[in-house]
Amino acid sequence: MKNALTVPQKTLTLLLCLFMTVSVLGGCGRREPFVRTLFALDTVVSVTYYDSRDAEAIAKIPERLEYYEGIFSRTRKGSELYEINARLAEAAAEGLTDVRLPLSLEMYQALSLALEYARLTDGAFDPTLGRLSELYNFSGSQHTVPSEAQRTEILSHCGYENLRVENAPSSAWPWHLTVEDPAIVIDLGGMAKGYIADRLKEELLAEGVTGAILNLGGNVLVLGKKPDGGPYTVGVAKPEAGSSDYLITFPLSDASAVTSGSYQRFFEENGVIYHHILDPGTGLPAQSGLKSVTVVAECSAVADILSTALFVMGKDAGTAFLEGFPEIEVYFVDEQGALIRD
Ligand code: AMP
Ligand code: MG
Repeated sequence: MKNALTVPQKTLTLLLCLFMTVSVLGGCGRREPFVRTLFALDTVVSVTYYDSRDAEAIAKIPERLEYYEGIFSRTRKGSELYEINARLAEAAAEGLTDVRLPLSLEMYQALSLALEYARLTDGAFDPTLGRLSELYNFSGSQHTVPSEAQRTEILSHCGYENLRVENAPSSAWPWHLTVEDPAIVIDLGGMAKGYIADRLKEELLAEGVTGAILNLGGNVLVLGKKPDGGPYTVGVAKPEAGSSDYLITFPLSDASAVTSGSYQRFFEENGVIYHHILDPGTGLPAQSGLKSVTVVAECSAVADILSTALFVMGKDAGTAFLEGFPEIEVYFVDEQGALIRD
């Protein structure tokens, strides 16, 4: 299952891949890429680059991933998001009705974008479904399928409308979050990899890197062009766990391609498959007739948010929604495996 390796698989992946440099300059003067791979953000991350002078900048990536995981991980004790959710739980236990919390700049930026697109997608993307994600626990081994009564109770304490971010540059600490229902658990799993990819891109550009491919567990961002001046080639993966085949490939420069798919994280219980992209209307895995959605956009965070939201909306509602976004390219793969390009 892609992105959901077991512990021995993770260890093996680490041993096989950690900081692996696969090749240097190839024959006939043709430049072969360098690839560094590691396990981070609960997935396999790889960075491909072509110029050995970029190695120093690329070497900083594991430390930067660690930094961002320390902000956005919902499950890592001590991360900023973990602490925000812990404060909310305490406030809910005390019976408080709203809570105001300080945020880092990164958390403020990510939450601002998440809330902007939650509104734009009419809640198809909703960063407040954390209590459901906790229960289903798609990346762990103990899963709970919530009953209808549990889903109704939990959904009554979800909803992006209950979150508000503010930036008051005149105050000593400008960035804050106000939560009007502290029983909420915030989950940025639907956009954090995209946000982090954008930040890594900025950091690499600042270090003078002119060409690289960042792949954060299938969330791909390409920076610049290849040394020969041509675009990189990326593809829409066949929507099957573990498959490395592509349904289609296309050229990409200075942009990101992000896939959300039901095959990426799931478990089976009593013959029913439960996958990780949740319908905020029902609290169940979204059943929208799709196996995957790939979004190509300049901003990886936007591509990440929209791939999740479009998966929830389905092809028809998604296609209508996309009329407002002519610059964004989308590949839907339906339940029959057919590829539909928008
Ligand atoms: P992605 O793989 O980017 O589509 O993100 C899926 C992850 O986002 C899940 O594992 C959850 O952590 C979270 N998530 C699930 N459903 C939603 C949703 N409707 N809106 C926002 N985040 C979601
Ligand atoms: Mg996403």
